Amino acid sequence: MRKKIVAGNWKMNKNFEEGMALVTEIVGMLNDEYQGSAEVVLIPPFTHLNAVSRMVAESKWVKSGAQNCSNHASGAYTGEVSAAMIQSVGAQYVIVGHSERRQYFNEHNDWLARKVDAVLTNQLIAIYCCGETLEEREAGKHFEVLKEQITQGLFHLTQEQMSNIVIAYEPVWAIGTGKTASTQQAQEVHAFIRNLVKEKYNDTVANELTIQYGGSVKPENAAELFASPDIDGALVGGAALQSRSFVDIVKAMP
Ligand code: PEP
Repeated sequence: MRKKIVAGNWKMNKNFEEGMALVTEIVGMLNDEYQGSAEVVLIPPFTHLNAVSRMVAESKWVKSGAQNCSNHASGAYTGEVSAAMIQSVGAQYVIVGHSERRQYFNEHNDWLARKVDAVLTNQLIAIYCCGETLEEREAGKHFEVLKEQITQGLFHLTQEQMSNIVIAYEPVWAIGTGKTASTQQAQEVHAFIRNLVKEKYNDTVANELTIQYGGSVKPENAAELFASPDIDGALVGGAALQSRSFVDIVKAMP
Protein backbone atom coordinates (compact mmCIF):
# COMPACT_ATOMS: atom_id res chain seq x y z
CA MET A 1 0.00 0.00 0.00
CA ARG A 2 1.50 3.31 -0.99
CA LYS A 3 1.63 6.20 1.45
CA LYS A 4 -1.19 8.76 1.37
CA ILE A 5 0.02 12.27 2.10
CA VAL A 6 -1.89 15.49 2.67
CA ALA A 7 0.46 18.48 2.83
CA GLY A 8 -0.31 22.11 3.60
CA ASN A 9 1.85 24.69 1.85
CA TRP A 10 1.47 27.97 3.74
CA LYS A 11 3.48 29.89 1.12
CA MET A 12 4.40 33.39 2.41
CA ASN A 13 1.54 33.61 4.93
CA LYS A 14 1.23 33.77 8.74
CA ASN A 15 3.48 35.61 11.12
CA PHE A 16 5.24 33.51 13.74
CA GLU A 17 2.53 33.73 16.38
CA GLU A 18 -0.23 32.95 13.88
CA GLY A 19 1.76 30.02 12.57
CA MET A 20 2.24 28.53 16.02
CA ALA A 21 -1.48 28.89 16.74
CA LEU A 22 -2.33 27.16 13.46
CA VAL A 23 -0.08 24.18 14.22
CA THR A 24 -1.50 23.82 17.73
CA GLU A 25 -5.04 23.83 16.36
CA ILE A 26 -4.32 21.38 13.55
CA VAL A 27 -2.48 18.88 15.75
CA GLY A 28 -5.18 19.08 18.43
CA MET A 29 -8.03 18.63 15.97
CA LEU A 30 -6.33 15.73 14.21
CA ASN A 31 -5.73 13.98 17.53
CA ASP A 32 -9.39 14.36 18.44
CA GLU A 33 -10.99 13.74 15.07
CA TYR A 34 -8.84 11.70 12.70
CA GLN A 35 -8.47 7.97 12.61
CA GLY A 36 -7.38 7.62 8.99
CA SER A 37 -4.07 6.65 7.51
CA ALA A 38 -2.74 9.76 5.79
CA GLU A 39 0.56 11.33 6.72
CA VAL A 40 0.09 15.07 7.26
CA VAL A 41 2.86 17.49 6.35
CA LEU A 42 2.92 21.12 7.50
CA ILE A 43 5.02 23.32 5.25
CA PRO A 44 5.48 26.78 6.80
CA PRO A 45 7.87 29.57 5.80
CA PHE A 46 11.54 29.04 6.76
CA THR A 47 11.32 31.38 9.76
CA HIS A 48 8.81 29.01 11.39
CA LEU A 49 10.26 25.68 10.34
CA ASN A 50 12.39 24.94 13.39
CA ALA A 51 9.53 25.65 15.79
CA VAL A 52 6.95 23.75 13.72
CA SER A 53 9.27 20.75 13.44
CA ARG A 54 9.67 20.66 17.22
CA MET A 55 5.94 20.96 17.76
CA VAL A 56 5.21 17.92 15.61
CA ALA A 57 8.27 15.90 16.63
CA GLU A 58 6.28 13.68 19.00
CA SER A 59 3.55 13.02 16.48
CA LYS A 60 3.75 9.75 14.56
CA TRP A 61 2.02 11.03 11.47
CA VAL A 62 2.30 14.83 11.41
CA LYS A 63 5.57 15.91 9.79
CA SER A 64 7.07 19.19 8.67
CA GLY A 65 8.64 20.35 5.45
CA ALA A 66 10.21 23.29 3.64
CA GLN A 67 8.89 25.13 0.61
CA ASN A 68 12.21 25.23 -1.20
CA CYS A 69 15.93 24.64 -0.73
CA SER A 70 19.20 25.59 -2.36
CA ASN A 71 20.81 23.33 -4.92
CA HIS A 72 24.17 24.10 -3.30
CA ALA A 73 25.49 22.33 -0.23
CA SER A 74 26.82 25.43 1.57
CA GLY A 75 28.81 28.62 1.02
CA ALA A 76 28.45 32.15 -0.28
CA TYR A 77 24.84 32.08 -1.47
CA THR A 78 23.21 34.91 0.44
CA GLY A 79 19.58 34.30 1.24
CA GLU A 80 19.65 30.60 0.47
CA VAL A 81 18.84 27.73 2.81
CA SER A 82 20.46 24.32 2.29
CA ALA A 83 18.82 20.92 2.49
CA ALA A 84 21.25 20.04 5.29
CA MET A 85 19.96 23.00 7.33
CA ILE A 86 16.39 21.86 6.75
CA GLN A 87 17.30 18.35 7.85
CA SER A 88 19.07 19.71 10.94
CA VAL A 89 15.87 21.22 12.37
CA GLY A 90 13.97 17.95 12.03
CA ALA A 91 11.93 18.60 8.89
CA GLN A 92 11.45 15.65 6.55
CA TYR A 93 10.06 17.01 3.31
CA VAL A 94 11.03 19.70 0.80
CA ILE A 95 8.86 21.02 -2.02
CA VAL A 96 10.88 21.27 -5.23
CA GLY A 97 9.70 23.07 -8.34
CA HIS A 98 6.45 24.61 -7.17
CA SER A 99 4.93 26.48 -10.11
CA GLU A 100 5.45 29.79 -8.29
CA ARG A 101 9.18 29.03 -8.10
CA ARG A 102 9.19 28.07 -11.76
CA GLN A 103 7.24 31.18 -12.75
CA TYR A 104 8.63 33.95 -10.51
CA PHE A 105 12.13 32.66 -9.83
CA ASN A 106 12.84 31.13 -13.19
CA GLU A 107 13.54 27.66 -11.86
CA HIS A 108 13.92 25.20 -14.70
CA ASN A 109 13.96 21.43 -14.80
CA ASP A 110 17.76 21.04 -14.92
CA TRP A 111 18.17 23.38 -11.94
CA LEU A 112 15.40 21.52 -10.10
CA ALA A 113 17.11 18.19 -10.74
CA ARG A 114 20.05 19.50 -8.70
CA LYS A 115 17.71 20.56 -5.89
CA VAL A 116 16.22 17.07 -5.88
CA ASP A 117 19.76 15.69 -5.51
CA ALA A 118 20.45 18.03 -2.58
CA VAL A 119 17.23 16.91 -0.89
CA LEU A 120 18.00 13.21 -1.30
CA THR A 121 21.62 13.58 -0.25
CA ASN A 122 20.32 14.86 3.06
CA GLN A 123 17.88 11.98 3.63
CA LEU A 124 14.83 14.16 3.01
CA ILE A 125 11.84 13.47 0.80
CA ALA A 126 11.26 15.71 -2.22
CA ILE A 127 7.75 16.71 -3.22
CA TYR A 128 8.44 17.38 -6.87
CA CYS A 129 5.78 19.61 -8.44
CA CYS A 130 4.77 19.49 -12.06
CA GLY A 131 1.87 20.91 -13.99
CA GLU A 132 0.84 22.65 -17.18
CA THR A 133 -0.37 26.20 -17.72
CA LEU A 134 -3.83 26.92 -19.11
CA GLU A 135 -2.29 27.79 -22.47
CA GLU A 136 -0.47 24.47 -22.60
CA ARG A 137 -3.63 22.53 -21.69
CA GLU A 138 -5.69 24.36 -24.25
CA ALA A 139 -3.09 23.61 -26.88
CA GLY A 140 -3.30 19.91 -25.92
CA LYS A 141 0.34 19.94 -24.80
CA HIS A 142 -0.12 19.00 -21.16
CA PHE A 143 1.17 15.42 -21.40
CA GLU A 144 4.23 16.60 -23.32
CA VAL A 145 4.98 19.31 -20.72
CA LEU A 146 4.53 16.93 -17.81
CA LYS A 147 6.73 14.32 -19.44
CA GLU A 148 9.49 16.87 -19.90
CA GLN A 149 9.23 18.18 -16.33
CA ILE A 150 9.34 14.69 -14.85
CA THR A 151 11.98 13.27 -17.19
CA GLN A 152 14.37 16.18 -16.77
CA GLY A 153 13.78 16.72 -13.05
CA LEU A 154 13.66 13.12 -11.82
CA PHE A 155 14.69 10.46 -14.27
CA HIS A 156 18.40 10.69 -13.51
CA LEU A 157 17.58 9.08 -10.12
CA THR A 158 18.15 5.45 -9.26
CA GLN A 159 15.27 3.15 -8.43
CA GLU A 160 16.22 3.35 -4.75
CA GLN A 161 16.27 7.16 -4.80
CA MET A 162 12.81 7.23 -6.37
CA SER A 163 11.41 5.78 -3.16
CA ASN A 164 12.09 9.17 -1.55
CA ILE A 165 10.18 11.11 -4.17
CA VAL A 166 6.58 12.28 -4.04
CA ILE A 167 5.17 13.83 -7.20
CA ALA A 168 2.57 16.59 -6.91
CA TYR A 169 0.52 17.21 -10.03
CA GLU A 170 -0.53 20.85 -9.83
CA PRO A 171 -2.11 22.28 -12.97
CA VAL A 172 -1.04 25.93 -12.87
CA TRP A 173 -4.51 27.06 -13.95
CA ALA A 174 -6.00 25.49 -10.82
CA ILE A 175 -3.63 26.98 -8.24
CA GLY A 176 -5.24 29.66 -6.12
CA THR A 177 -7.88 30.25 -8.77
CA GLY A 178 -10.76 28.30 -7.23
CA LYS A 179 -10.82 26.16 -10.40
CA THR A 180 -10.14 22.54 -9.58
CA ALA A 181 -9.26 20.05 -12.28
CA SER A 182 -12.18 17.65 -12.56
CA THR A 183 -11.59 14.33 -10.86
CA GLN A 184 -11.43 12.74 -14.32
CA GLN A 185 -8.82 15.23 -15.55
CA ALA A 186 -6.70 14.71 -12.44
CA GLN A 187 -7.02 10.91 -12.51
CA GLU A 188 -6.07 10.85 -16.20
CA VAL A 189 -2.88 12.79 -15.54
CA HIS A 190 -1.99 10.80 -12.41
CA ALA A 191 -2.35 7.54 -14.34
CA PHE A 192 -0.18 9.03 -17.11
CA ILE A 193 2.53 9.96 -14.56
CA ARG A 194 2.44 6.53 -12.93
CA ASN A 195 2.79 4.91 -16.34
CA LEU A 196 5.77 7.13 -17.22
CA VAL A 197 7.47 6.02 -14.01
CA LYS A 198 6.63 2.39 -14.76
CA GLU A 199 8.16 2.66 -18.24
CA LYS A 200 11.34 4.23 -16.89
CA TYR A 201 11.69 2.05 -13.76
CA ASN A 202 9.26 -0.82 -13.11
CA ASP A 203 5.86 -1.76 -11.67
CA THR A 204 7.05 -1.74 -8.08
CA VAL A 205 8.47 1.78 -8.22
CA ALA A 206 5.37 3.04 -10.02
CA ASN A 207 2.95 1.37 -7.63
CA GLU A 208 4.75 2.66 -4.56
CA LEU A 209 4.96 6.26 -5.78
CA THR A 210 2.73 8.74 -3.96
CA ILE A 211 1.18 11.19 -6.43
CA GLN A 212 -0.58 14.16 -4.86
CA TYR A 213 -3.03 16.46 -6.57
CA GLY A 214 -2.83 20.20 -5.93
CA GLY A 215 -4.97 23.07 -7.16
CA SER A 216 -7.85 24.56 -5.18
CA VAL A 217 -8.41 21.46 -3.07
CA LYS A 218 -11.15 22.16 -0.52
CA PRO A 219 -13.16 20.10 1.96
CA GLU A 220 -15.96 20.02 -0.64
CA ASN A 221 -13.93 18.34 -3.40
CA ALA A 222 -11.32 16.36 -1.46
CA ALA A 223 -13.27 13.13 -0.91
CA GLU A 224 -14.10 12.76 -4.60
CA LEU A 225 -10.49 13.39 -5.63
CA PHE A 226 -9.15 10.96 -3.01
CA ALA A 227 -11.50 8.23 -4.20
CA SER A 228 -9.62 8.04 -7.51
CA PRO A 229 -7.25 5.10 -7.79
CA ASP A 230 -4.14 7.13 -8.66
CA ILE A 231 -4.68 10.17 -6.42
CA ASP A 232 -2.76 9.56 -3.21
CA GLY A 233 -3.28 12.81 -1.38
CA ALA A 234 -3.12 16.54 -1.85
CA LEU A 235 -0.81 19.49 -1.76
CA VAL A 236 -3.04 22.23 -0.36
CA GLY A 237 -2.41 25.98 -0.52
CA GLY A 238 -5.21 28.38 0.47
CA ALA A 239 -7.28 25.88 2.42
CA ALA A 240 -4.24 24.93 4.52
CA LEU A 241 -4.25 28.35 6.18
CA GLN A 242 -7.27 27.54 8.33
CA SER A 243 -7.29 24.64 10.73
CA ARG A 244 -10.92 23.67 10.08
CA SER A 245 -10.65 23.47 6.31
CA PHE A 246 -7.25 21.76 6.36
CA VAL A 247 -8.31 19.15 8.91
CA ASP A 248 -11.52 18.49 6.98
CA ILE A 249 -9.43 17.83 3.85
CA VAL A 250 -7.24 15.39 5.82
CA LYS A 251 -10.38 13.70 7.15
CA ALA A 252 -11.53 13.08 3.57
CA MET A 253 -8.62 10.63 3.25
CA PRO A 254 -9.74 7.33 4.76
C1 PEP B 1 -0.40 25.23 -4.11
O1 PEP B 1 0.07 26.34 -4.10
O2 PEP B 1 0.35 24.25 -4.07
C2 PEP B 1 -1.84 25.10 -4.19
C3 PEP B 1 -2.31 23.98 -4.61
O3 PEP B 1 -2.59 26.20 -3.88
P1 PEP B 1 -4.21 26.28 -3.77
O4 PEP B 1 -4.64 25.08 -2.96
O5 PEP B 1 -4.48 27.56 -3.07
O6 PEP B 1 -4.74 26.23 -5.16
